[in-house]
Amino acid sequence: MSIYECFICGTPQESRTCPQCFSRIRGVLAQLPEQYAYLLASRQPRQGGPGDGRGGKRLHAPLPGREDTLNMLGPAARQSVTDGRDQVGPTPFAAVLEGWCEAVSYERGLSARYTEGLMTVRRDVTSMTRRLTDHLDWISQQDWVPDFFEEIQELLTATKRITLTEPRRVAILGVLCPSCGEQRLMKVEASGWAAQCRDCPAVKFDDHDYDRLIKDRVRGLQELLGT
Ligand SMILES: [Zn+2]
Ligand SMILES: [Zn+2]
Repeated sequence: MSIYECFICGTPQESRTCPQCFSRIRGVLAQLPEQYAYLLASRQPRQGGPGDGRGGKRLHAPLPGREDTLNMLGPAARQSVTDGRDQVGPTPFAAVLEGWCEAVSYERGLSARYTEGLMTVRRDVTSMTRRLTDHLDWISQQDWVPDFFEEIQELLTATKRITLTEPRRVAILGVLCPSCGEQRLMKVEASGWAAQCRDCPAVKFDDHDYDRLIKDRVRGLQELLGT
């Protein structure tokens, strides 16, 4: 029985955010602490590299988008989440999480100690990510969940552009896309989907649908081989 349309993908189903989109949000959150560590590492001083006559500490050779790195590691700007959109360049990493953590803390009345600007969670990326993950059930029922998802996804994408850790894509061999009929299915690491088509944006399988697709394929092959 479907009573709602998923806030994010519009699929009719029983909860405000469908299980697939829920696991996609969780997947994005799960990657943030690691990506933040990569971001920091890309700024780490190291002992004399080539061309460093004095052998002293210096920063890594500039990575592509190094200015972006500095921006993203910048101090959390005191601004509301919705204002972030007007800012030029990526919003600092911590600011995005802090804005949403504050919204959750405030709306849920998580601490009697809450006053304007006082966080109820430590401001490090791991703690803030954990808080958001802990409250994901509640977040997924709020009508602003699409904004939340879009913002953390943008954060992840912008960070990966800098840390050069684009998600891995693994081709799925021997299974045809039900839409285009081509062997174009792949797994995209941390996408939240079990499989998707390279060419057909609408073709995405969650774990359950993918299992069924594989079972059908195996049955088809067994019939073909007469086993
Ligand atoms: Zn959905
Ligand atoms: Zn296809």
